[in-house]
Amino acid sequence: MSASGRVRVALAGSTGSIGTQTLEVLDAEPERFELVAIGASGTPGPRLDLLIAQARQHRPKVVAVATDDVAVVDRLLAELPGCEVRAGDGALASLATDADVVVNAVVGFAGLDVTLATLRAGRRLALANKESLVAGGPVVAEARRTEGAELLPVDSEHAAIAMCLGTGTAPASVARLVITASGGPFRTRPADELAHVTVDDALTHPTWTMGPKITVDSSTLVNKGLEVIEAHELFGLPAWPGGYGLTFDDIDVVVHPQSIVHSMVELVDGSTLAQLSVPDMRLPIGYALAWPDRIATPFGRMDWTTAGRLDFEPPDLERFPCLGLAYAAGRTGGTAPAWFNAANEVAVAAFLGGRIRWIDIAAVLADTLERHDGAAASDRDAVVAADAEARRVATTVVDGLLAGASR
Ligand code: NAD
Ligand code: MG
Repeated sequence: MSASGRVRVALAGSTGSIGTQTLEVLDAEPERFELVAIGASGTPGPRLDLLIAQARQHRPKVVAVATDDVAVVDRLLAELPGCEVRAGDGALASLATDADVVVNAVVGFAGLDVTLATLRAGRRLALANKESLVAGGPVVAEARRTEGAELLPVDSEHAAIAMCLGTGTAPASVARLVITASGGPFRTRPADELAHVTVDDALTHPTWTMGPKITVDSSTLVNKGLEVIEAHELFGLPAWPGGYGLTFDDIDVVVHPQSIVHSMVELVDGSTLAQLSVPDMRLPIGYALAWPDRIATPFGRMDWTTAGRLDFEPPDLERFPCLGLAYAAGRTGGTAPAWFNAANEVAVAAFLGGRIRWIDIAAVLADTLERHDGAAASDRDAVVAADAEARRVATTVVDGLLAGASR
């Protein structure tokens, strides 16, 4: 806490979709939160301009960039007098020591060190960066045992499950988690049309506005696969209060196109607990920041006079094979989820770059995972090495697809 009794917040990934929405939550509750540090990739362009504008408006003590580009650092120093500038590898991870809570809103595996540094510093981690938890599973679990460390999910599905479990449910009463999925833009698209969908089609999400990587992940159901593994890490292990001892057999996915029910917990007596709200990420962000209290700003409040209907249907694993691949990687454990994640990051970049088709993303995942070497996720360096090896393999798979296509 700061001298004023406010919770000190550091925000890694401040310029993205979750980052900017986090700033809106902080702006709505200035008496509760104090922003002490922000950080982003620092890649030159409009996002760097945004980082500088955020620093000018919110006046954090520290601004961090992941790049060590001298021109970027010189610009920050010149445009942000009085602000401490940190740059390079480890700059974002260093923010943990300045704050009570770190929001990790970095996208992709690049968020691993922020996750580990925050937990190892014994701070609260408000985690949007699911990739670090998926890829670093056993290593993150170890870091969560640090005294004072807390991991609160920002992902809406996991925040919903945490809210349901937080009603005093005894671990032995929990039968099953049901994670809801919007189904993405191709939910009703016939299988034979999926070979021709464009990048623009994939970037048009029906219910959420998000960064490009997670939007593509939503279209393939990779995002839901990552979330199944995320739920297993969060709630299957003893690190969460009480521990629920859940396996992958106890975690199901149901498609719910309206994105109003954010996930559910089924109890052994057949009851189902659910959390409902309008799709608005500021609600789970505020939840993770304020827990066990609640922010007083009603983001996501429902208007029941216009709510209409709630539909549910099973996911189609034939049109969306990535979800099944995620379950398989999760069950294998060790570095298999890190391989799943890395192969996906390579495939999504190739798709967004116009190099492979949307349906090839699943092929890249399947072919890469076939070659998983079975290494253990024994420590941070082993996870980083697994990520690098999986990227190398996935890149050869992508190159093989391109060579095949040009023959
Ligand atoms: P985004 O692309 O909008 O923003 C990403 C942020 O990460 C930017 O601030 C960028 O500067 C930073 N970044 C990128 N590469 C970096 C690097 N190498 N080192 C340091 N920082 C880097 O992404 P987003 O949609 O806000 O998603 C962020 C995370 O939150 C992802 O893990 C995503 O899965 C998760 N998430 C997002 C939503 C959503 O609604 N957007 C919902 C649930 C979970
Ligand atoms: Mg989610």
